[in-house]
Amino acid sequence: MSSVVVSRQGADRIRRGHLWVYRTDVKNSTATSGEVVDVRGGRGELWGKAFYSHESQIALRMLTTRGEDVDPGFWGRKLEEALKFREEIGARTEAYRWIHGESDGIPSLIIDRYGDYVVLQTLSQGTERLKETLVHLIVDLVRPKGILERNDPKVRALEGLHLVKRSIHGDVPRSMTIREEGILFHANLWEGQKTGLFLDQRENRAAARRRARGRALDVFCYDGGFSLNLARACENVLSVDISKEALGRLRINAEANDITNIETIEANAFDLLRELADRGESFDSIVLDPPAFAKNRAAVQHAVRGYKEINLRALKLLRPGGHLITSTCSYHIKEPDFLDIVTSAAADAGTRLVLLEKRMQSRDHPVLLTMPETHYLKCLLLQKR
Ligand code: SAH
Repeated sequence: MSSVVVSRQGADRIRRGHLWVYRTDVKNSTATSGEVVDVRGGRGELWGKAFYSHESQIALRMLTTRGEDVDPGFWGRKLEEALKFREEIGARTEAYRWIHGESDGIPSLIIDRYGDYVVLQTLSQGTERLKETLVHLIVDLVRPKGILERNDPKVRALEGLHLVKRSIHGDVPRSMTIREEGILFHANLWEGQKTGLFLDQRENRAAARRRARGRALDVFCYDGGFSLNLARACENVLSVDISKEALGRLRINAEANDITNIETIEANAFDLLRELADRGESFDSIVLDPPAFAKNRAAVQHAVRGYKEINLRALKLLRPGGHLITSTCSYHIKEPDFLDIVTSAAADAGTRLVLLEKRMQSRDHPVLLTMPETHYLKCLLLQKR
């Protein structure tokens, strides 16, 4: 096994429980791409084992600091533990995240289950090299009808890996149906965003459904994750997205659930929120679930303005007593930052807001406390008084 020597700063990060060591903190390496290596400090002391990547800025992704062997048994145990953890959550869904990368001890690996099918993403040289082993383990553990390699995220390019989408076991259909919290969704594992559906909002959708009533507005609705839940609790729902295709899927989903109280509008949310206010419209329940406005640190300031603007506009449309369910999925926007943004929007709107719930990504996307990057989704549930 090759050894990689890290700087004192690199060792410090590992000691504090972070799993990434940047290339600038690697002093010495003879390792090959994707190899599992020993990580050592300047005096040769062993810090643990990691995936090595020769191309990415993230040179090392820690696998263990416990001196255990990283062999097929190691990967099998990680997959089994993660599966058991999901079973214990007892989420009412056929679709869930089985492996959430770093948080489940296998950095840069995503495995999602959609009923009888599995979607796999190997996002670094380390997990890429492991692909065959993983497929064997997955087949042994859950006997899926098919496994889709959904390796089209652009981050793969940073690892020098090409983008690819293909069935790597059995056959994976283009369209399938999934039940989540009693609602049917058509999922397209090949083309849908992420691995097909936004699984990370499941619990927040259920929370929204518990609070929502009256006339609802779902902004950035995609294929209706929130809308369909709101529809069950509210008189009617206005669902807004910029993507015609997403709205088409929402209507198909509504039909599959015999839901008839949703109206869709294809529009830019920023414009539409303004137009609704100009027309004097108002709502009892509003959901905001925008895409990540801050994809990197440089974009944070711009993103803050974007988040503030939509929240301010939504607050102006909200009736007294009404609920706002607002999210950010940018990990660069920390929870206190997001609270500040919404607080300042409330002040500007002259609105008295009560914070009812601070929420996050669903529990099948666990947060590794020593790695803030894993806490990416924040969701606030507020009431206008
Ligand atoms: N709420 C959804 C996920 C939303 S993903 C769920 O629970 O499943 C973000 C959505 O925002 C995407 O569907 C994208 O098409 C849409 N979007 C991005 N920019 C937009 C804009 N400026 N106006 C309206 N929709 C936009």
